[in-house]
Amino acid sequence: MPTSRPGHAATSRGERFTVLDPATGKGFAEAPDQRPDELDAVVERAHRAWLGWRSDPLARSKALLTAADAVAAAGADLAPLLTREQGKPLAESYAEVARTAARLRYFAELTPESQKITDGRPVRGEIRWRPLGPVAAIVPWNFPLQLASSKFAPALAAGNTVVLKPSPYTPLATRLLGSVVAAALPEDVLTIVTGHEPLGARLASHPGIRHTTFTGSIPTGRAVAACAGASLARVTLELGGNDAAILLDDVDVERIAERLFWAAFRNCGQVCMAVKRVYAPARLHSRVVEALAQYARTVVVGAGLDAGSQLGPVNNAPQLARVEQCTARALADGARAVTGGHRLDRPGYFFAPTILTDVLPASSVVTEEQFGPVLPVLPYSSLDEAVDAANDTRFGLGGSVWGTDLDRAEAVADRLECGTAWINHHAELSLAQPFAGIKESGVGVAGGPWGLYGNLRPFVVHRPEEA
Ligand code: NAD
Repeated sequence: MPTSRPGHAATSRGERFTVLDPATGKGFAEAPDQRPDELDAVVERAHRAWLGWRSDPLARSKALLTAADAVAAAGADLAPLLTREQGKPLAESYAEVARTAARLRYFAELTPESQKITDGRPVRGEIRWRPLGPVAAIVPWNFPLQLASSKFAPALAAGNTVVLKPSPYTPLATRLLGSVVAAALPEDVLTIVTGHEPLGARLASHPGIRHTTFTGSIPTGRAVAACAGASLARVTLELGGNDAAILLDDVDVERIAERLFWAAFRNCGQVCMAVKRVYAPARLHSRVVEALAQYARTVVVGAGLDAGSQLGPVNNAPQLARVEQCTARALADGARAVTGGHRLDRPGYFFAPTILTDVLPASSVVTEEQFGPVLPVLPYSSLDEAVDAANDTRFGLGGSVWGTDLDRAEAVADRLECGTAWINHHAELSLAQPFAGIKESGVGVAGGPWGLYGNLRPFVVHRPEEA
């Protein structure tokens, strides 16, 4: 996705760029615009800090628990700042801060297990786990804090140091989070760098980086993989999704409408694992469309800081343009917006929650990731047709099946080609579960113990039974 460059200014504090409030479209603060050549010193310091940080697992765990408490205590500073630059309703920002603290706590208490190798030979073999070195973490603007912690918590717990780059759309809350966490850690164990490209590309290709962990779009993921290919560092990619929700013919439409709506529209639809297309049995299709539209009309759209707002603005102007274009193309191809379908006539990047019907299956709003508050609902005539349509995509992040007979729903969920499938809900994740998109949705496994081991390398020691 193109990154627009908000205004630049050179001040006594170095180059800075303006951060916009998506609820007004106006600048409200500045962040350092760091130059790529500053990374050499940053990575060098991260390497030096690693030599100490890797050596004492108990001290690490203690420091990360202290950091988790500090993050939880900083909620009243972090949450409003996150809402201001990202747009989401304040309650969701508080929830994001809470999940960030919980993730730090989870990984602080997780330790890798050494393993004996027993293959009948008179040799004692043991697998131990070693950290990798400085890790580069690059994240997008939709869940800045949560995604930052999903990178740095397992990497730090494993004994690595981290250089993290947030999106230039959302640098502020991440910088504050970084200072809160870093205060509990030795110097240079966690560093936040902010600025525009090619800062991320330079970080991902830096020869001192031993693992690049990236969340973002598929095109940028390819570029990051190419960078890591040059330095032969490990790479983990969490990329886009186009999750389908299949409604079965025994679904209780009115009962699930609100839950299904929020599975698609939470965070203004800017969730990698949002429901991005719905498949409904032909005989229930119009009821599903109407139930979703009816609920959508009740949703309060407004600035995230306004009490009562349930849906904030889209985060940035290029993303709003993308949502508008994708909706306009669908409408030009014969789709109908039962509700919404347009920007709101007010300052900022607001788009009305939109339910689309009569959508062509080949329309880009179905085949691509709209990443905004727009949901196409398509009819199907046989279950095989619905499962084939759900799987007929280059994405493979998540999917869900909705119905009353849970065994039947689970049997259908088992046929979905993706990393996580849900029944009667969507995108609910446990800290203890693996997170792994398939196809173009990702490379590598994050989350739970897999996230910890993804930041470690096996080290094997063999010794004979006798001298
Ligand atoms: P993006 O790919 O444009 O940017 C992501 C990050 O990469 C930003 O920090 C950006 O500044 C940086 N970047 C840009 N060009 C770079 C380059 N050449 N080398 C290194 N870094 C570079 O994505 P976005 O628009 O910020 O976020 C939206 C995308 O993120 C969507 O596709 C969404 O599905 C995806 N996403 C995926 C997950 C997941 O876990 N699978 C989670 C959240 C978002």
